[in-house]
Amino acid sequence: MKLDAKAIRYLTNEDFKVLAGVETGSRNHEVVPTPLIVQLSGLRGGSGVHRAISNLAKINLIAKVKNAKYDGYRLTYGGLDYLALNGHQKQKVVYSVGNQIGVGKESDIIVVAHSSGAQRILKIHRLGRISFRTVKTNRDYLRHRHTGSWMYMSRLAAMKEFAFMKALRENGFPVPEPIAQNRHTIVMSLIDAFPLRQIAKVPKPAKLYSELMDMILELARYGLIHGDFNEFNLLIKEEVIPDEDGNTPDIEDADDDHIQLTPILIDFPQMVSIDHANAEMYFDRDVNCVKRFFQRKYHFVSDAPGPFFADAKKRFLKNPGKRLDVEVEASGFSRKMARELEKYMDEVGANDDAGERDDDEEEESDEDEESEEEEEEADDEQPEQSSAEVDESSKRLDALEISGSS
Ligand code: ADP
Ligand code: MG
Repeated sequence: MKLDAKAIRYLTNEDFKVLAGVETGSRNHEVVPTPLIVQLSGLRGGSGVHRAISNLAKINLIAKVKNAKYDGYRLTYGGLDYLALNGHQKQKVVYSVGNQIGVGKESDIIVVAHSSGAQRILKIHRLGRISFRTVKTNRDYLRHRHTGSWMYMSRLAAMKEFAFMKALRENGFPVPEPIAQNRHTIVMSLIDAFPLRQIAKVPKPAKLYSELMDMILELARYGLIHGDFNEFNLLIKEEVIPDEDGNTPDIEDADDDHIQLTPILIDFPQMVSIDHANAEMYFDRDVNCVKRFFQRKYHFVSDAPGPFFADAKKRFLKNPGKRLDVEVEASGFSRKMARELEKYMDEVGANDDAGERDDDEEEESDEDEESEEEEEEADDEQPEQSSAEVDESSKRLDALEISGSS
């Protein structure tokens, strides 16, 4: 399910009104009857609307469904993508669409640009995608659900991620800048950095390790547990510190003392409150992901045990930061929404994936380069983005411009 923005510039205002009509109708109709689409589009009936309908169906933004009782249409993921993209464009958040740089378990990551040329990241949430493909029980489960649920759940994931990113950013945590949210998508600043997973060598592992543990503890002090704190969701900025004479050598020539690594945390749809029933399990899992990765990749084992959930809780009670879990709830992502999303993610197995992946890795032997490669290949769900690829994509941005479809 890739985003293909090519057709968007050929869509008229009328097409978008009809598309929005199908979206509205989908909220309470599995299949939206054609007369209802006409009505919801707010356009006068007639050949125009019907032309728009067949146009949209031809490029797969809506799909015709023959129902026992009536014929009608349902919105596709592609249609939802276009509605979101159109929204971002109207808000002047996105001007053009570039390359896809990541295909995550439950999302697509795309480089986009603002009219100033500044690059941004568009994250499209696609809940249910992996489960449709892999687990039969999930597939059956989802098939018997209302089609609207994947759309709604993907939107909840985007809302949740945006709300947490905003709260974290405003409170000084190193996360991307959240710029906008529309339906199942968010736009954020682009971090020009590699995921920790791709950093072969860390000059001072102990330092980075303790910074990461501090980040986990600091999140807890603000009432939060990330829930997927691992080498994929930490982007590491590598910067060269100028030497005593004020010179800044190339990163290849800089010595260990002059390379500064700054971790940036991403990916927030699974964050939980420190008061969550399974908080301790999530906390321990986050800590152990980092521990295991540092041991396996950098042969670094900390002398200090922990940190333990009890310590985190103690710090939180003695010297709490702002309760960001509570703040997010108040901002519009309600507790009810959080529960709905969590239930869905549990049911489709989105939540236990991080745990499973780590168990796999644990069995790998440290020196076994080959098995590492194999893992990378088998792991094609995991994004492998590099700043080089980001640069490449920026050159091609103008290839897929969205023209003003006001
Ligand atoms: P998922 O939920 O599918 O894991 P992530 O938010 O973790 O999605 O993003 C997947 C990958 O896309 C990341 O590992 C990273 O390589 C890249 N990525 C995501 N957000 C950004 C960003 N703001 N800047 C640069 N790269 C990003
Ligand atoms: Mg991720």
